[in-house]
Amino acid sequence: MIEILIISGKGGTGKTSLAAAFAHLAKNHVICDLDVDAPDMHLILNPENTIKTDFVSGHEAVIDPDKCDACGKCLEMCQYGAVNETDSIFSIDPLKCEGCKVCVEFCPVNAIDFPEKHCGSWYHSDTRFGPMIHAQLFPGEENSGLLVSLLRKEAKELAKQKGLDLILSDGTPGIGCPVIASLSGVTLAVIVTEPTPSGRHDMERVAELCGHFNIPAGIIINKCDLNEKESAAIEAYGHEKGFTLFGKLPHDPIITRAMINAQAITEYSDNEFAKQVAEIWDRIIHVATPIK
Ligand code: SF4
Ligand code: SF4
Repeated sequence: MIEILIISGKGGTGKTSLAAAFAHLAKNHVICDLDVDAPDMHLILNPENTIKTDFVSGHEAVIDPDKCDACGKCLEMCQYGAVNETDSIFSIDPLKCEGCKVCVEFCPVNAIDFPEKHCGSWYHSDTRFGPMIHAQLFPGEENSGLLVSLLRKEAKELAKQKGLDLILSDGTPGIGCPVIASLSGVTLAVIVTEPTPSGRHDMERVAELCGHFNIPAGIIINKCDLNEKESAAIEAYGHEKGFTLFGKLPHDPIITRAMINAQAITEYSDNEFAKQVAEIWDRIIHVATPIK
């Protein structure tokens, strides 16, 4: 089973536009959107959800006002400032509660419930490019690394069930917990970057992360003609560190037009830009496929 992860180090590089084009070009694959904090593949792929499952993770404290005798112990003990008191009425702010359970343990009248927390939902879906696994966390919810691991496991099981041999995932920007959860054990990471100082800086950070976990990685320089000096610096960095340069793509307004039409670039057009994207995909698959 081949697992290819598209990442970027920072947002706004065109990662998801290219991931959607690769999802269009790929064969025998499951699509997986691991950008669980701000997913957007669904805007292009228009998935039809076949299974919806609640994502439950951690706990939250909830005061039962009928049992509370307003002793104030929970306010005193909470280190996160999550307990509020107004006119001797105590309540807990769910956005501040870290689920540490201290208040539950110290409440003298057992007035604090500690239910599991519903943090979002995840889905099995059908799309015109193939089956898809994806999710949506509720705003402000955490544990996205846990959800990423769950989605990857589901994508692998689905691929096995359907006899598919490729998982193509759109990852999260940055280098935080969800990116680390996305990276571990993948066949190949494809880093989409842009020729700006922040693009190069964040690309280097995520490339170092790939190196740290011994994940083979390569680079796509998107909008390469915006700043040729930065573009050359990214190319030189990749060369020095041994990362494959999968390709350089110029800035092309076709990306925006394809987006407006909710289509992948390669689906929307067969112009020179789309052909370059297809050539890059061929290189990626060539590098990711084990030699028999
Ligand atoms: S510790 Fe329990 S009884 Fe005391 S204020 Fe908090 S919820 Fe109410
Ligand atoms: S569970 Fe912990 S963080 Fe949440 S209100 Fe109680 S003491 Fe504060």
